[in-house]
Amino acid sequence: MSKKYDVVVIGAGPGGYIAAIRAAQHGMSVACIDEWKNKDGKNAFGGTCLNAGCIPSKALLESSELYHRARHEFKKHGITTGDVGIDIAAMQKRRASIVRQLTGGIAGLFKANKVDGLVGHGRLLAGKQVEFTPVDGAAETIDADHVILATGSTPIELGAAPFDHESIIDSWDALELEAVPERLAVIGAGVIGLELGSVWSRLGSQVTIIEAMDNLLFMADRDLAKVAAKDFKQQGIDIKLGARLTGAKVGKQGVSVEWEDKNGEYSFEADKLVVAVGRRPFTDGLLAEDSGIQLDDHGFIVVDDECRTRVKGVYAIGDCVRGPMLAHKGSEEGVMAADLIAGELAEVNYDVIPSVIYTAPEIAWVGLTEEQVKDSGRPYKTGSFPFAANGRAKALEQTSGLVKVISAADDDEVLGVHIVGPMAGELIGEAVLAMEFSASTEDMQRTIHAHPSLSESLHEAALAADKRALNYMNR
Ligand code: FAD
Ligand code: NAD
Repeated sequence: MSKKYDVVVIGAGPGGYIAAIRAAQHGMSVACIDEWKNKDGKNAFGGTCLNAGCIPSKALLESSELYHRARHEFKKHGITTGDVGIDIAAMQKRRASIVRQLTGGIAGLFKANKVDGLVGHGRLLAGKQVEFTPVDGAAETIDADHVILATGSTPIELGAAPFDHESIIDSWDALELEAVPERLAVIGAGVIGLELGSVWSRLGSQVTIIEAMDNLLFMADRDLAKVAAKDFKQQGIDIKLGARLTGAKVGKQGVSVEWEDKNGEYSFEADKLVVAVGRRPFTDGLLAEDSGIQLDDHGFIVVDDECRTRVKGVYAIGDCVRGPMLAHKGSEEGVMAADLIAGELAEVNYDVIPSVIYTAPEIAWVGLTEEQVKDSGRPYKTGSFPFAANGRAKALEQTSGLVKVISAADDDEVLGVHIVGPMAGELIGEAVLAMEFSASTEDMQRTIHAHPSLSESLHEAALAADKRALNYMNR
């Protein structure tokens, strides 16, 4: 007789493992299938985010930032050191250890919540059956009342620069380099290009980024993008905009990178070339021909606002469905799917998903950009406050950047908050909460913020929207 569960989840990234735990908390019997294998050959739960994405990149961003600050900022604080060195092997060991602790933690959470974590491949058959092929055994069929597909995404490969994982590498390879490449080329100045470019630039690489769009950070508010562009330039990261890769030739010395823009054709030599031009949904080997699941033209599983696929009882969440490819978006969809299966009301507020780029300074936003509000035709007001006028930022020696609040002129509702500066990724939480509760600018103005704190910049930006900033000249 085949095994039977109330819910079978395929994929244990931040979408799938959270969905599995939430479903188990509702008292349902749950299995979560995952086939992720790390470069050491060991299987691990956690998907891209924990093994090859969010977590290892932030570990290296922190290490490289500390190295950079020790070399360039300590002196200003009156601290002298001898020569500051780096030990890449030790840095990578710390990164790997954080990943191990967190992915191991999921196995512990599964056990505590009575989720059966199954290691191997999952394939959706017709009639809500799942074929499970364990890494070390024969395929078996599992019956499920509900199935949640959470199989994530994988890097897009460019025809002009196919991955050899040695010289032409993807983001995962770039997180596991064992030495600092003297010259690093990156295709794509998106989130990955900027974060990984920052890591290796701080550690000593000469970084050149080729970006197809004419504007840096085209999806961000223009005021943020301007500050960020200036800061990346100051850091020595060379970003070529409106540029297109035309070829990449691997030789003994590395890669010859060929590119063009509207003014001509160029080439330069690099030791490694990171291709970071986006990710595509991953559904390879997931769907039996008669599974009934529909994919769109880009390969995303088609779902409605509540992550229901066309097949009753089958949901899909995270990077393999429409919407931003962000861990927290996938997790919230996982919670929603599990709650809906349990018969509860649930929804994801897609208008209030924060975006954070963990460079220095950090870049974070939620809601609409000024350009989007302008295009909507709704009358609005904006208030900005620079970190240069914030006491805590001065004490931290991190005064680059600003907070910008955009609100409706009619009913004062906060429509978007944009931050570039120290700890922007933490500060944005206040704005997300404010917008989730449909706060007004006045609500933010009347909320007491600790002094001295970076969060006072949010307070002042909200005050500035009504020309009432207290610690900065109103314009
Ligand atoms: P995934 O995390 O990709 O997990 C899918 C899992 O399903 C994988 O383990 C895969 O092996 C498994 N799987 C697939 N098919 C099958 C099958 N048929 N059978 C069994 N198992 C299967 N997002 C953020 O929000 N913040 C960040 O700071 C951030 N940093 C990132 C940095 C990098 C370098 C990268 C690459 C991504 C980053 N992201 C970040 C994006 C984030 O990693 C993804 O949005 C997130 O992992 C998506 O979660 P998911 O559960 O949908 O899929
Ligand atoms: P992205 O979509 O953020 O950026 C890709 C960039 O490559 C874009 O700027 C695009 O214009 C450019 N591009 C595309 N094709 C090109 C070409 N042929 N030549 C030159 N440039 C080209 O994608 P990504 O940086 O690969 O990241 C993938 C996903 O992972 C993103 O959706 C992101 O949300 C997620 N991610 C999130 C974080 C975070 O939240 N901090 C960090 C890393 C990754």
